[in-house]
Amino acid sequence: MGNTAVVVGGGIGGLAAAIGLRRVGWDVTVLERASTLDDAGAGISLAANGLRALDELGVGKAVRDASRGQYTGGTRTPEGRWLARMDGSALEEAVGTPIMGIPRATLHRLLRDALPAAALVTGAEVTSVERTGPGTVQVDCGATVLDADLVVAADGIGSKIRGRLFPDHPGPVHSGSTVLRALTEHAVDLRTDFELTWGRGAEFGHIALQDGRAEWHAVLNLPAGTRFADPLAELRRRFHTWHDPIPALLDATRPQAVLHHDVNELGTPLPSYVVGRIALLGDAAHAMTPNLGQGACQALEDAVTLAASLGADSTVEAALARYDAERLPRSRAIARAARQAGRMGQRLSHPLAVTLRNTAMRLTPSRLAIRMLLRHHAWTPPSLN
Ligand SMILES: Cc1cc2nc3c(=O)[nH]c(=O)nc-3n(C[C@H](O)[C@H](O)[C@H](O)COP(=O)(O)OP(=O)(O)OC[C@H]3O[C@@H](n4cnc5c(N)ncnc54)[C@H](O)[C@@H]3O)c2cc1C
Repeated sequence: MGNTAVVVGGGIGGLAAAIGLRRVGWDVTVLERASTLDDAGAGISLAANGLRALDELGVGKAVRDASRGQYTGGTRTPEGRWLARMDGSALEEAVGTPIMGIPRATLHRLLRDALPAAALVTGAEVTSVERTGPGTVQVDCGATVLDADLVVAADGIGSKIRGRLFPDHPGPVHSGSTVLRALTEHAVDLRTDFELTWGRGAEFGHIALQDGRAEWHAVLNLPAGTRFADPLAELRRRFHTWHDPIPALLDATRPQAVLHHDVNELGTPLPSYVVGRIALLGDAAHAMTPNLGQGACQALEDAVTLAASLGADSTVEAALARYDAERLPRSRAIARAARQAGRMGQRLSHPLAVTLRNTAMRLTPSRLAIRMLLRHHAWTPPSLN
């Protein structure tokens, strides 16, 4: 088989796919529309499945070395009462690692460092991807036209390529929530590594990072497009009565550091992640709500599975069929579980429903909670060797 690939999109999914494809002998170019990789973003948590995928890509150690294990914490009420404890050691015993927290910019940099500089072209917005023969696809990005034996569409939740391949698909929909998040400017005195606090239709969470700073996020039930003149002041107004360290985390944040996005997802799953020689990957294929912290982990699983299939099968078609068969059911089930977790967690607003949910959580043994996490975290990557 020919072995020239173009990856559209230099996010976590696209970079991971490029690393994996190179490891199985493909010649890869990543086209990224952003002209500078300004390393924006707050923090991200990586579960065992994502970390194992990174191990297979050869960057797991570097990522772990720059991350902090999320051993302690759990879920609380706004008054500070614990609903469930996080047992990172039990998770580590079961799958070899607790969840790890890392700034997004660091994760991106480590993925980029695993690629030769020439493999990543910035300022290259792909405008069309066309089949030009039985085994070739032409990728047009304005100044340049590239021929490829394979195109990986890793162009995110708003994927134009997905829109062209599936014109009848409704595309992303608003989940009903909005998220504000940031990294603190300096270290914060935290008693736990990770917390989620659920009020009525509102969530505040933090992840502690290796250098003592923290990533925090606030999620609110609000219509799409809601924006605030002064987001930090609005959050102080909404969360000032919530337990410590929530007000302290907001106080440790610069107003300009706060990012605000609607939470969207692909509510209608795609029928396939493959059309001809084009494979959809990451959020382009299965954007999900962030309630399980699995979106990037699934993109990393996609990347390793795609590369392993191409390394093992004798034709691109057979490899892509295997990729589709392995990735579609799992990522679809996790997207469904994430939506459900949001419904029972952050989005729940009726007082009676909140009381019932909280009671059920307090009565759930922690080993059962771990077992539920393992359904998603306990994933073994295919080998790239
Ligand atoms: C609030 C929030 C918290 C989250 N927390 C977690 C978490 O803790 N753990 C976790 O695993 N996941 C988490 N996720 C999900 C995770 O961020 C995403 O699933 C992941 O970043 C998707 O990566 P991607 O590469 O598929 O897409 P993206 O990161 O969106 O990358 C797509 C790239 O393609 C580029 N692009 C788009 N169109 C073109 C074009 N035409 N030509 C060239 N380039 C193009 C874009 O510029 C972009 O760089 C969270 C998501 C949100 C919203």
